[in-house]
Amino acid sequence: SVRVRFAPSPTGPLHIGGVRTALFNYLFAKKHGGTFYLRIEDTDQTRFVPGAEAYIFEALEWLGIAPDETVGKNEKFGPYRQSERKAMYQQYADQLINSGWAYYAFDTAESLDAMRKEAEANGKTFIYNHSVREQLDNSLTVSREKVTERIAAGEQYVIRFKTPVNEILELKDIIRGDIKFDTNLLDDKVLFKSDGMPTYHLANIVDDHLMETSHVIRGEEWLPSLPLHHLLYKAFGWNAPEFAHLPLILKPIGNGKLSKRDGDKMGFPVFPLEWKTEEGISSGYRENGFFPEAVVNFLALLGWNDGTEQEIFSLEELVQKFDLNRIHKAGAKFDPEKNKWFNHQYLIGKSDKELAISFSTDLEKRGVSTTIDLERVVSLIKERANFVTEFWDLSDYFFEAPTSYDEKAAKNWKEETPGLMQQVISELEKIEDFTSANIETLLKEWMTTNEIGMGKVMQPLRLSLVGALKGSHLFDIIEMIGKAETVKRIEKAIA
Ligand code: GLU
Repeated sequence: SVRVRFAPSPTGPLHIGGVRTALFNYLFAKKHGGTFYLRIEDTDQTRFVPGAEAYIFEALEWLGIAPDETVGKNEKFGPYRQSERKAMYQQYADQLINSGWAYYAFDTAESLDAMRKEAEANGKTFIYNHSVREQLDNSLTVSREKVTERIAAGEQYVIRFKTPVNEILELKDIIRGDIKFDTNLLDDKVLFKSDGMPTYHLANIVDDHLMETSHVIRGEEWLPSLPLHHLLYKAFGWNAPEFAHLPLILKPIGNGKLSKRDGDKMGFPVFPLEWKTEEGISSGYRENGFFPEAVVNFLALLGWNDGTEQEIFSLEELVQKFDLNRIHKAGAKFDPEKNKWFNHQYLIGKSDKELAISFSTDLEKRGVSTTIDLERVVSLIKERANFVTEFWDLSDYFFEAPTSYDEKAAKNWKEETPGLMQQVISELEKIEDFTSANIETLLKEWMTTNEIGMGKVMQPLRLSLVGALKGSHLFDIIEMIGKAETVKRIEKAIA
């Protein structure tokens, strides 16, 4: 049965790329009636960031893709935090030592540095591989007794993987097909450190096995680790899960991986939720007014499509249609403008009632109280908005009289205008059934009868009420703000 995982390291806020990885795992699990679990990979204590773990859970919760099993939830294969599984990893490192798949290495930081420098001086990159391990009498050639002695004496050591020499590995990736790796190009990665902590590689493979992971779906940056992971499964004698490495998410402009800097430069978030530190605030999709459904939708299309032109997918629909075989290898360009369009699609799909509730929360924050029918305001402006947070700028004139008048538009304010506006006031005072349609009919009648040009009245009237030549249908505005407020605004304009 399908069991997939999202295995973030709590080293900071979850990047949008991490969220996509979580989403694809979620979709794959749900599609196959399987389980989506979340494991916290916190073995590197030096990179631990307080609050990051809570952030990860909150972000997935907000997006509606919370895991089925994780810390504090259905802990079938718990604990789900690697730091709490610490005691377990040692035995697996020992197992590899005993079977000859791993060895103790006592290199000091200085000697490693010297080797690195020497290689660089010869124009090479330093790889800690078979040639190093065979030369050095501080690793493999040291006898078991000597190793025990040196460890007892408190010498620093690491346990390294003994990569086989002269092998070509032919591995499979669901997205990339067959890939060949030359083991001579791999280094003997550290699996376990003398502080008693496993490294990512050991802990990850042990846990993926113990937690019965069927598929590993993760970002392309982990592809270089695939041969080592494959060899680790082999060394333990375990069946490896299937692998799928997701394509990179690329910058909106230019080449290369999307970074926080691109977001800062172009003014879009790269995090699902806001993240605050002493250095400052990084903005999030939630705080920027994005709907979670819109974020899920645009993330799903970063590297995947269903083979048609369809772009709007609900989460349920994504679950139905998702297919790992339809993910492409090529990087997926991140398009912040298109993301706003996605939000717009979800916005106009919501009921005026729901939008009015969100808008009223926004108005409260702005200290605006009103008796105006918000549902009607929303219905008039929503086609022009991508976010509820834009409603205010599109509709402020419904709630507040203008405090200034657009200069260019004010040029249409002629000598005769105050007199005409005074007449408009008298006409409006006469109207009993104060509805948009009725106001329109009666004012137009008055203009026709007195042979007054429309433009002479309509533009200054709009300027008086709105402050600029913008906004909804003028007679709707008049009805909604009401007779008294309309008169007050005209009087203010001609004063
Ligand atoms: N802890 C790794 C990360 O932070 C997990 C990589 C994997 O999925 O194997 O991305």
